[in-house]
Amino acid sequence: PFDVLVVGGGPAGAAAAIYAARKGIRTGIVAERFGGQVLDTMAIENFISVPHTEGPKLAAALEQHVKDYDVDIMNVQKAKKLVPAKTPGGYAEVQLESGASLKAKAVILSTGARWRQMNVPGEDEYRNKGVAYCPHCDGPLFKGKRVAVIGGGNSGVEAAIDLAGIVAHVTLIEFDSQLRADAVLQRKLYSLPNVTVITSAQTTEVHGDGEKVIGLTYKDRNSGQSHLLELEGIFVQIGLVPNTEFLVDTVGLSSRGEIEVDARAHTSQQGIFAAGDCTTVPYKQIVIAMGQGSTAALSAFDYLIRLAPA
Ligand code: FAD
Repeated sequence: PFDVLVVGGGPAGAAAAIYAARKGIRTGIVAERFGGQVLDTMAIENFISVPHTEGPKLAAALEQHVKDYDVDIMNVQKAKKLVPAKTPGGYAEVQLESGASLKAKAVILSTGARWRQMNVPGEDEYRNKGVAYCPHCDGPLFKGKRVAVIGGGNSGVEAAIDLAGIVAHVTLIEFDSQLRADAVLQRKLYSLPNVTVITSAQTTEVHGDGEKVIGLTYKDRNSGQSHLLELEGIFVQIGLVPNTEFLVDTVGLSSRGEIEVDARAHTSQQGIFAAGDCTTVPYKQIVIAMGQGSTAALSAFDYLIRLAPA
């Protein structure tokens, strides 16, 4: 059994495992895919103190740093169920899809999230080659260029306002007949000179030249007509889905499925902590996930030293 078992091997989980192991306690980390979303990223330019790196390189560095410590790494293993301790200070159980079961006095959940995709031709092919999901991350790469934002909810409209200050022109495309973002955001959006809003529009294809995005096609849902938009970038903002489906009956989740945590990364269950994109922490970023992963490990340690001696 472990003192601390981390579930998820992205930036949050790696930070949690390192912080826990540095306390000299038995630490394990189980991950479906060590590295997490970082593996799907190309240029990373906001990992503070590292002006430029690439996803696979950062993911390898995360794994190497964890391996510098006495941490039991279980990669390519998916958790399917969490059973919190039955008595205070008892062992929680994490069941894996492989059939194995792991026990730990404290569990840190860091299973991350995934961006909802449009699922249209060209989207996967041109991911990181013009198709982007994170305006804070990739906005500056499109300085002076033309981009589209897909989605007119709060995150889409926030992204459009943000990008309008960097790029030459933003076209916001919304499927519905009206935007769903808060009124203040919509007012701000419509006040900007370099933004066009198209509603009742369904994106049907991403076009590229073999190397990068050159445009998209959308269908006007009223007329049924297809239109081609020439542009260099597409920001998909139709939702970030936390990987918490297996936790619905065990820890308190927000209406969006995010694990509810307090400032110390405590969940609704004793001995269960959570960090990173799977939680209610505002702003989903690598440095934020790492910070919260560290917080979760220190809180888990705090919890362990207060348990009655065995
Ligand atoms: P994740 O990175 O999502 O890791 C989750 C981990 O949990 C993975 O190991 C996964 O396999 C595992 N897992 C999930 N479910 C289970 C389960 N049931 N059992 C076991 N393991 C499980 N942020 C920046 O700061 N800068 C950038 O430039 C940047 N660019 C990005 C570009 C793209 C294309 C994407 C998709 C994201 C980008 N981000 C960027 C966001 C950043 O990657 C995330 O905020 C960060 O990775 C979150 O870390 P995390 O550890 O919380 O979750």
